[in-house]
Amino acid sequence: MKGQRKGPEMSDHPKLPPAEMQPATRALDAGLAPDPFTGAIAPNLVASVNNVFIPGSAGFSAEGADLTEQPFLYARWTNPTTRALEERLAGLEGAEDALATATGVAAAAAVFLTLLKSGDHLIVSEVCYAGVYELSTRVLPDFGIAVTACDLTDPAAVRAALRPTTRLIHAETPCNPLLRLTDLAALSQVAREAGVLLSVDSTLATPVITRPLDHGVDLVIHSLTKFMNGHGDALGGAVIGRKDLISRIRSRAGVYLGASLSAQNAWLILRGLDTLFPRMRMASQTAGELAAWLARNPAVARVTWPGAEDHPQLTLAKRQMALGGAMIAFQTRQDPSIIAQRMADRFRVIHYAFSLGHQRSICVLIGTDEIQRSTFRMEGTARKRWQDWAGEGVFRLSVGLEDPADLIADLDRALRE
Ligand SMILES: *Cc1c(COP(=O)(O)O)cnc(C)c1O
Repeated sequence: MKGQRKGPEMSDHPKLPPAEMQPATRALDAGLAPDPFTGAIAPNLVASVNNVFIPGSAGFSAEGADLTEQPFLYARWTNPTTRALEERLAGLEGAEDALATATGVAAAAAVFLTLLKSGDHLIVSEVCYAGVYELSTRVLPDFGIAVTACDLTDPAAVRAALRPTTRLIHAETPCNPLLRLTDLAALSQVAREAGVLLSVDSTLATPVITRPLDHGVDLVIHSLTKFMNGHGDALGGAVIGRKDLISRIRSRAGVYLGASLSAQNAWLILRGLDTLFPRMRMASQTAGELAAWLARNPAVARVTWPGAEDHPQLTLAKRQMALGGAMIAFQTRQDPSIIAQRMADRFRVIHYAFSLGHQRSICVLIGTDEIQRSTFRMEGTARKRWQDWAGEGVFRLSVGLEDPADLIADLDRALRE
C-alpha cells in the first residue's frame, strides 16, 4: 500500500454537486464519491444486512424512516449500495429523495398503500401496466379503497371523476402498450386545484426523455427492471420525489411491506445506469428507423412511435419528450395471431417474449380480446378508445441495441408471406 493515499483525507475529494452536473453526467455520478479508504471509483457492493451502532442511539420502532440520523441500521430501510442507487435516481429525476424497491409493482404498491386508506378514492389511468392496473382495480377495493379507471388524456374526464375523497391520481406516460401520452403539466394542474397528489409511472420514458417532476408531478415511479437497468438481469423499482413523501413511503411500505431492493440488484442497476443516456439515445434512433420502415411496409396497418411526425399527440410529444423513445406499437393488416406465430418461428435476432427495456430487442402481441378479457374489461366508449389505438391487437416492440439492419431483416422475415 506504500505510496497510496488512504484514510479520511480521501473523503475530501472535490466533487461537483449533482445539481450542477449535466443530466448525462449525473447518470454516471450522483451519489458516488470514491471510497474514502481505498479510493475505489466503482461502487462498492456492500452485502451487509446490518450495521453496528452506539447503544441508545436507535430505537426499535420502524416509524419515521428518516435516514438523516442513522442511515444504515438494517437493510430493509436501506443499505450503502442501495442508498448510492437511491441518490443517483434522485439526481436523475431532479428530486430530493428516492426509495428503491424490489420490483416496479412493489414501488406502485408502496405509493398506493402509503397514501390511501379505507374510504379514500384513487383515479388510475384506464390504460397502464397490467400489474399496476389489476393491483388498483382488484386488490385495493378489498381494502375499502374506491378506484376509478379514467382516460387521463382528457382533463375534463379527470375533473368529472374527482370526489371529495380522492387522494391520488396515478398516470403512466407513454402508456404501456398503446404509447398514448398524458399531458403531465395539464394533469398536475387538475391535481393541484383539487388538492390531490399525482404519481406517474415513467418507466417507458426514463429521465433521459421526460422528467415528470419538472412538469409538476409529485411522485415518479419506475420499474428499474426495464430501461434503467437495461440488461434484463435484475428486478427493481423506485419511487422518487419530495423528502417528506419518500420518508413516509419508506417507513410505511419499504419497512412494513418489506419489498426492499437487494444490495446485489442495486449494484447491477447502478452499473446499468452508467450507460442509460447512450443506450436510450441509440435505441431511440434505431426505433425511429424501424418505425419509418414499418410505416412504409404494406403488411403494416398502423405504427405508433412518439417521435414520429404522425403521432396523434405530436405537439405534446415535442413539449414533454426529449426523444421518441425505444418503444414502438404497430398493427398488421393480416390476423395478428398469424403474424405472432411467424415472428416466433422466423425471428433470428429479436426475441418473441414479454417484458421490455433490455439491450436485446423484444416483441410481443398484445391481442385486444385477450387483454380486454384478462385485464382492462372495457365497455362502450372506453373500449372504442382502446380499439382506435390498438385495433384487434398491437405488437409491442422494445428496441434494443442491435444494428438496425439486422432488426429490419428480422421484421421483414416475419411480415412477408
Ligand atoms: C414492467 C413494468 C412495471 C412493473 O415492473 P416490475 O419490475 O416487473 O414489477 C410497471 N410499469 C411499467 C410501465 C412496466 O413496463
